Amino acid sequence: MKLLSAEFVASAAEPAQFPAGDLPEIAFAGRSNVGKSSLLNALLGRKNLARVSQTPGRTRLLTFFRVTLASRGAKGSPEKFLFVNLPMIEGYLSSRSPLRGVVLLTDIRRGEDDEVNVVRWLGEQGLGLVAVAMKIDKLPRGQRLQALRDLETFLGVPVIGCSAVTDAGQDLVWKAIRGLLARPRRVAVSHNRISM
Ligand code: GDP
Repeated sequence: MKLLSAEFVASAAEPAQFPAGDLPEIAFAGRSNVGKSSLLNALLGRKNLARVSQTPGRTRLLTFFRVTLASRGAKGSPEKFLFVNLPMIEGYLSSRSPLRGVVLLTDIRRGEDDEVNVVRWLGEQGLGLVAVAMKIDKLPRGQRLQALRDLETFLGVPVIGCSAVTDAGQDLVWKAIRGLLARPRRVAVSHNRISM
């Protein structure tokens, strides 16, 4: 896989500000400070594209980034899609039709009940999910596998261990994202609420 470009497209506080167009979208969701901006920067090989906020709770806007891969699609053109940094979940997830799937970030050291709710809700909607446990570098190697298993049991889905500091797990996350992009476009949007 060769990354040709990654660029900021827009930030949005509400649906009216979401970018037009119908490129497929992959959302990166998770609570504040879990590492969303860091993982986006790491996957895209850029230090500061998605600003890494030092203060929990500061990132309030959704931010959209256009990504272009050199690999050829069915029409022989580069593969283009959007990554969305998603601190505020509900309005976007329930109404955004180009959305192909969600990368849900959790902390390897503890899962949260609201993450279980998001997993369940995504399943009900038939939306693709990749669960990623961030900050795996913070655990001693000998504890990582058990922590991943515990998180998988807690969330009820497979989890990829990952670090934005070392490159652990990033190749697996990319592979899973490409699996999400291969999924069909969703047909109907939902009006059910996620309980957070
Ligand atoms: P966001 O609010 O979800 O976008 O989280 P940030 O990307 O701003 O990260 C919050 C803090 O966690 C920052 O200080 C990052 O440097 C740190 N961080 C993010 N990912 C990792 C990781 O994989 N390992 C470690 N050790 N720190 C991380």
